[in-house]
Formats: sequence, C-alpha cells, structure tokens
Amino acid sequence: MTDQSTFVGGVAAERIAKMRTREAAIFAAARPKTRAALDAGTGAFLAGVPMLWMADWPQPFPMLVAEARGACLTDIDGNGLDDFCLGDTGSMFGHSPAPVARALAEQAEKGLTYMLPTEDALEVGRLLQDRFGPFRWQIATTASDANRFALRVARAVTGRPKVLVFAACYHGAVDDTFVQPGADGRTVSRPGLVGQVVDLSQTSKVIEFNDLPALEAALAEGDVAAVLAEPVMTNCCMVLPDPGYHAELRRLTRKHGALLIIDETHTISSGLGGYTRTHGLQPDMFVVGKPVAGGLPASVWGMTEEVAARYKAFDSTRPGGFSGIGTTLSANPLQFAAMRANLAHVMTAENYAVMETGAARLEQGLANVIQRHGAPWHVVRVGARVEFICHPTPLRNGSESHVAHKPELEKAIHAALVNRGCLIAPFHNMMLVSPATGTDQIDRLIAAFDEITAELMA
Ligand code: PMP
Repeated sequence: MTDQSTFVGGVAAERIAKMRTREAAIFAAARPKTRAALDAGTGAFLAGVPMLWMADWPQPFPMLVAEARGACLTDIDGNGLDDFCLGDTGSMFGHSPAPVARALAEQAEKGLTYMLPTEDALEVGRLLQDRFGPFRWQIATTASDANRFALRVARAVTGRPKVLVFAACYHGAVDDTFVQPGADGRTVSRPGLVGQVVDLSQTSKVIEFNDLPALEAALAEGDVAAVLAEPVMTNCCMVLPDPGYHAELRRLTRKHGALLIIDETHTISSGLGGYTRTHGLQPDMFVVGKPVAGGLPASVWGMTEEVAARYKAFDSTRPGGFSGIGTTLSANPLQFAAMRANLAHVMTAENYAVMETGAARLEQGLANVIQRHGAPWHVVRVGARVEFICHPTPLRNGSESHVAHKPELEKAIHAALVNRGCLIAPFHNMMLVSPATGTDQIDRLIAAFDEITAELMA
C-alpha cells in the first residue's frame, strides 16, 4: 500500500478489490450444481433472473435455494447459510413459522382466492386493531400497493395534489416517491427510472429528513395532501429521527392540514405495533407489508376514524366507477389464514423480546469488532433490525447517507460473509434477528465480521 492509495470507508481500494475477486472465486467453486442449472435454465428470463433485483446480489451469480427453515437457508449445492436477510424483512419472524405454515396448508385445501371474505378476515380485522391501533383497515398484496392506495385516499379527502417525502426514502414501487432534491433544492424525478414520462415535481415534493424549517416551509404552501414517512429511514443505511422530530412532524402536519402516513414496513422490527406503538406516534394512516402475513404476500393499510369519516363523505359524492384502489388477488383467503396465524401466534410480545435480545447481542458484538480494529464505521439498531454503516458518525438525512454508502466495500464484505455462512441483505448492510435465530448463529456472524474486518483494516 502506498500513500497514493484510494481509501473507501477507511479501507484501501486495492484491498477491497482483492477480497471481492477472491470471494467470488470461492463462491463459484462451492456451487457447481447451481452454475450448471443456471447455465441451462435462465434463458427464459429478462436479464437471467425472474425479478430484476435478484441480479443485484454481490455474488457472481445468484444462489438457487433448496429450502429455508427458521433462520437457515440451504442452496441446491448443499451450502447452508445463517439467514440474517430473511427475505429483506418478509421473513422477519423466520422462514415458514409453524402456525402460518399449518394455516396455509389447511386453507390450501379450501380454495385459494374467491374475491369474498372469510370468517378469518373478521378475526384479522380485530387482531389488526389490537396489534396496531384502532384504524379502519384494508388489505392489499404488497406494501407498494398499500402506499399507493393510502395516497389516493389522502389526496381525495384533502383535495390536495402533492405527497411530501424525504430524500433517499423508499416506499416501494410508488411513482410519487421517486423524487430527489435537484441542484437548486427543487424537486426532480430520480435519474434511472425506467419509462418515466410524468414530471414527478407535479405530484411530489422532497425535503431532507430531520429538517424542521424545510418541513414547515414545504407544508406552508398548502398543496401537500400527505407526508409519507418511515419513522426511521431504513432504506438509505439507517437514519434515526432527532429527539422530538416526530412530535414536530405531527404538530406541523396538523397545523397545515396535511395527513401523516407512517410506513412501518421495515420499522415493524421495533416491537409489537411497530415504531408507532413503541414510540407513541399518532399517524392518520398506517401501512405495513412484508412480514404481516409471515412471508406470504400481504399488506395492510389503515386510517383513523376521522379519516375514515372524511373518506365516507368524499365517497358519497363520487360518481360510480373504478376508484383506483384494490387488486383482484388481494384480501384472498390464504392471506387471511396466514395473517390470522401470524398476528395471533407469531408477531407476539414474547417473540419480539427474543428478537430484541438477540439483536442487542449482535449490535454489541459488531460494535466491539469495529472498535477493536479501529474501523471508521458504526452500528445502528431499531429493535430486531441491525445495520453496520461504513461511515464514522450517525447520519441525519438522505444526503448524508448517500455519502456514507460505500457499495464496493459493502459488496466485498457481503461476499466474504456469505462464504463464511452468513447471509445479510444485498442492498445495504442490514441484518434481522428472528425469533428462530440462535445465539450460535449471531456469534458466528460476529466472528465472520471480525475476521473480514481484521483483513480489511490490517
Ligand atoms: N415501504 C418500505 C419502507 C419498504 O422498505 C418497502 C420495500 N423495501 C416497501 C414499502 C415496498 O414493499 P414491497 O416491495 O413488498 O411492495
């Protein structure tokens, strides 16, 4: 290493490149069967994968999963992995939780989709109110859909056009959220969008998280139907709210007549009822997808009694016809069977306690490694969700997170972790601890991270 070396996150670039090359070769050598199967069978897919994101893993080719149980995953070559990605939160309570798997098997004998509710649906409604709060609920199939539908209602009841989001947010495949601050601070569409024809500054506004003057100024224009927010930004490393930020967000949205939609799809890791319940937030609308049915595609979106009354008044004046809300396969009996089992028996205070204890152990272990090796990185945790960030100090907003994100370094670490039996989320350094995750698995991840960090920082 010379003084001319480029450093990324405190690590010499040539050392990162060396690790990536070596780990890619190790990965491939351990998966001859996978390689052969992919070579024979991916021609039918656009870009060789059934969903484009599956090409984004840092390995040279995707694994083909043979099976997953609890917090373990096995590929078709027989390589076992401790799974801390857990389907990027869909399987946050472990793969195929037994009550959910049983309920699905039973329902599968009785029909898969009817476009009519079941008795399970009524119990799910009661459980949703009990777990998340006294909202009036609707069921959708993905969190993307749930957010889209919530935004329609917000615009309808306020009569306002725009949604306000935070720079570097992610709320699913929701057009209105694909905006970023332009050079002069004005809202522009994100570059990279495929087939974008609408200028999204017509529908949306974007500001930085944790910036109260910007929030007040944006709301004061009187055109914002709703602020759509994650309570903690989880899709751009992790950005925590400043103390008191949520109270001000609530006060200012009320003052300026904008609704507050809280998207708990990731922060449901916080504990029973999500960040909303554990931190006493008071949203007008509440959205959660991913793990709400134990991994089966389902999402829920609810609104307060007051918003529901406003929606009813709006609806009574609406000409007939399609509302733009709902999809054919949503609220199907499989979703209700899975949600009922998950909400009643899996998403419980007892399981959250186990997850919290495990995640705290992981957080501490990773922080110790970072300190021991003098890496300029840090760790953040929101309940069961842990993330290491290759940047020395906590982040306050999306722009800071953009600088903190070190894709090349992170990919090298991810690849090296997989070859040591630990799978973490592909897009950033996210790890989830499920109720099925053993202490031995957590300790193996800490040990692997230790070995990799030692090499990078040596
Ligand atoms: N909201 C948040 C906060 C998310 O992180 C995501 C996906 N990562 C979504 C919504 C969309 O979820 P889905 O892709 O299941 O529609």
